[in-house]
Amino acid sequence: MSQSLWREFDYEKRGLPQFPKLQGRHKTDVLIIGGGLCGVLCAWFLEQAGVDYMLVEADTIGSGMTGNTTAKLTSQHNLIYGKLLHLVGKERAAQYLRANEEALSQYRILAEMVDCDFEEKDAFVYTRSDRKKIEDEVEAVNALGFSTDFRETLALPFPIKGAICFPGQAQFHPMKFLTGIAKGLNIYEHTFVQELAPHTAYIGAEPGEERGEICADQIIVATHFPFLNKHGGYFLKLYQHRSYVLGLEGAQEVAGMYLDESQEGLSFRNYGNLLLLGGGSHRTGAQGGGWQELRRFANQYYAGAKEKYAWAAQDCMSLDGIPYIGAYSRRTAGLYVASGFGKWGMTSSMVAAKMLCDLVTGKEPQYRQLYDPARRMKKSQLFLNGTQAAVHLLTPSLRRCPHLGCALKWNPQEHSWDCPCHGSRFEEDGMLIDNPATGDAASLGRD
Ligand SMILES: Cc1cc2nc3c(=O)[nH]c(=O)nc-3n(C[C@H](O)[C@H](O)[C@H](O)COP(=O)(O)OP(=O)(O)OC[C@H]3O[C@@H](n4cnc5c(N)ncnc54)[C@H](O)[C@@H]3O)c2cc1C
Repeated sequence: MSQSLWREFDYEKRGLPQFPKLQGRHKTDVLIIGGGLCGVLCAWFLEQAGVDYMLVEADTIGSGMTGNTTAKLTSQHNLIYGKLLHLVGKERAAQYLRANEEALSQYRILAEMVDCDFEEKDAFVYTRSDRKKIEDEVEAVNALGFSTDFRETLALPFPIKGAICFPGQAQFHPMKFLTGIAKGLNIYEHTFVQELAPHTAYIGAEPGEERGEICADQIIVATHFPFLNKHGGYFLKLYQHRSYVLGLEGAQEVAGMYLDESQEGLSFRNYGNLLLLGGGSHRTGAQGGGWQELRRFANQYYAGAKEKYAWAAQDCMSLDGIPYIGAYSRRTAGLYVASGFGKWGMTSSMVAAKMLCDLVTGKEPQYRQLYDPARRMKKSQLFLNGTQAAVHLLTPSLRRCPHLGCALKWNPQEHSWDCPCHGSRFEEDGMLIDNPATGDAASLGRD
């Protein structure tokens, strides 16, 4: 598998902070499961609040999606505000904007303390086909009291029909940030939570090892896709979407952050002398353009640019575009979750960490209702997602996902077996790559 720019930099040149593995029996007030941006920010807030906590990470911190992001820090989450006005009304749409702008401000403060190549940049969403969509979004965002404007042209090498600009957003190096804030936190790596019971997480165990356990008054599940199926119905209300990234040397200085409004469109930002070109996206387990599509684009517009990096990652998508942050379910006292960041997990992780820290310390979080994981979903959305899963559950195949039994699909770009229902991924030999599955798949092999 290809390594991202962020992870290669840290491992080879800078060195990640080392955290011990946890074994045996332990007790803590708050247990955080998952050492991505969301989990580590939760730990950071709890540390500041003087709370007794532990964070356990199955691999190393940032080894999940956080190490494979494009790291734009923005409250411009594609064309979300027009949709939110329609879906949740003006007050909640304004809350969403405020929550993410506050997250951005918090990053500005932390970036003063942590060397993470933080740079202020304008963010743009453009369209190549439907000018009206952008005009409507400008109107929606302005109605929420945030000043934005319509652009006719951009510093990109093709014509557009229009773009919306969010001024004063930012980009950074996610692994420099993550490893910077993680220093001194109570983190354990290579500690895999196999099973959750009320107030108890079971950890370990490799062959020959005794299974350990951590008892906690409160538990935060920050594992990207929540892996406890019995409660919350996350297998019904989340799916995963995969995207590809190329790091190109000698391509273009784009002086901002850009995203095509269509789900299959492209994303642009620079890091140093590299252009990070994203796209080729598709639902995990389905076919999509992948790196080939990005290479075709690069050959056409940046002939002569050198491909230095190629990587891919996926994110959890909620059904209404709003993350699920809060109580895991109505029946699981003391259990919390953050997921469904919809490829906007940088500011959303900050929003989540602040809210979850409030919840576990007994405060009422500001945006609780907006992000409530138990909020009502439209029946049509649930039906559509459920039908997708049902089709793959009923597809005859010997290669099945150990999560809920869907038929796995071969991913020819990345040589992996991917689950089209919930996005678990496996190596050719069945070894688990991405959750929500918690174990390897049996006897896969190749067609
Ligand atoms: C290609 C791409 C580009 C993106 N670009 C942007 C962007 O520009 N801006 C933006 O805002 N967002 C972006 N995103 C989204 C963002 O990267 C993610 O939403 C965010 O990184 C998710 O962070 P996380 O902490 O929830 O998950 P992760 O970083 O995946 O962390 C979860 C951690 O939990 C651990 N874990 C899982 N199961 C267990 C277990 N049982 N026991 C112990 N540990 C466990 C995993 O090992 C992992 O380290 C992008 C996403 C993709 C796919």
